[in-house]
Amino acid sequence: MLKRRATILGATGSVGQTTLNLIDAAKKSGDADISVVAVTANSKVKELAEAAKACGAEFAAIANPHAGEELASLLIGTGIKSAAGPEAIIEAAEMDAEWVMAAIMGAAGIKPLIAAAERGADIAFANKECLVCAGDAVLAAMKKGGGRLLPVDSEHNAIFQVFDVERPHRVRKLILTASGGPFRERTRESLRGVSPEEAVKHPNWSMGAKISIDSATMMNKGLERIEAAYLFPVPKEDIDIVVHPQSVIHSLVDYVDGSVLAQLGSPDMTIPVASALAWPDRVPTPAKQLNLAEIGRFDFFEADEEQFPALRLARESLDEGGIATCILNAANEVAVAAFLKGHLPFLDITDVTEHCLETVRPNHDSADLADVLAADKLARDAAWARVEELAQRS
Ligand code: NDP
Repeated sequence: MLKRRATILGATGSVGQTTLNLIDAAKKSGDADISVVAVTANSKVKELAEAAKACGAEFAAIANPHAGEELASLLIGTGIKSAAGPEAIIEAAEMDAEWVMAAIMGAAGIKPLIAAAERGADIAFANKECLVCAGDAVLAAMKKGGGRLLPVDSEHNAIFQVFDVERPHRVRKLILTASGGPFRERTRESLRGVSPEEAVKHPNWSMGAKISIDSATMMNKGLERIEAAYLFPVPKEDIDIVVHPQSVIHSLVDYVDGSVLAQLGSPDMTIPVASALAWPDRVPTPAKQLNLAEIGRFDFFEADEEQFPALRLARESLDEGGIATCILNAANEVAVAAFLKGHLPFLDITDVTEHCLETVRPNHDSADLADVLAADKLARDAAWARVEELAQRS
């Protein structure tokens, strides 16, 4: 029977909720004995308290320092301890769960992730921004702790399932599939006035707001290319992207003998989360079974860097290396937040990112975490300044 002590960082989000639902279903089916150590959130205090009570967590942490009293009062009588502030999230990560779901959105997840990795937890890795921003520091923490890195992003989980770790030199290339997002068939010009409501409507996946916008700009696939370069021992030039609108083939590994291995499944995050939870075993999930005859056909298209310049920016940042991917990520996080608040037109998301990549020059270009976080801050400040400049122009 699957036995785990689990912590869910980002428990109120889309991946966090999927994880808690899966743990609940696995427990009820008698397939697993999973106790939840800690759950965390940013500001959704009621949702966090409900999640903590439902899963019987030992500890609940909220990043918003002003939400501590409300959280404590919502948990009175439950025996669940709580704390507030960014350091409370790190405290949650440091508790003794051997399996940690890293599902905080954005670079805010770096310090908790590193805290969990350094103490040797297995990390179910959804939070791609951490690798894009501070990949070397994250991998060094994993090495120090000795835990396993279990990719949760559906593409990386697919590759993880079919990658021959004993013979990486026999891999010719990795092929990341992309749905193409909601605007795959639109011209760039026609996207000028799209609203956040239109842009978050992904055709295949139900996800949080930030990753949904990243899918609409295709920055998500660019970030995933960088993520793959950190996760798998293949040269970055050998990571390709192909558009596959059905989102059934989740990615492929192309071997030297001409064999191409893929993992398929319904577009439902329950499947990669279950894979990371049970690995190397498997647990049943409520995900829809794949019916190939019903799907009928698979389509593939080239990923177009002119229609989606975010793809080019991410590729160039990866080629440049060093601090460039950190600047890319920070600027994109700010631009997406500004778009979601209605402060920036959709097409200007990549303008802000490109502007920061061209102008932000940190004093240091080292992989040291303090230097990376300083560069992240510099890029965020520059990105907000660019958002304001563009707002004044329009
Ligand atoms: P959501 O926006 O749905 O959830 C994000 C979670 O992180 C919430 O619990 C949120 O708390 C918390 N959070 C946000 N900011 C902070 C902060 N500053 N400090 C502490 N906690 C914070 O995101 P998703 O679940 O969609 O995505 C999470 C990560 O997983 C992202 O990196 C994304 O790229 C990746 N991912 C997501 C997929 C998906 O299907 N959704 C697929 C593959 C990868 P609160 O609710 O209080 O705001």
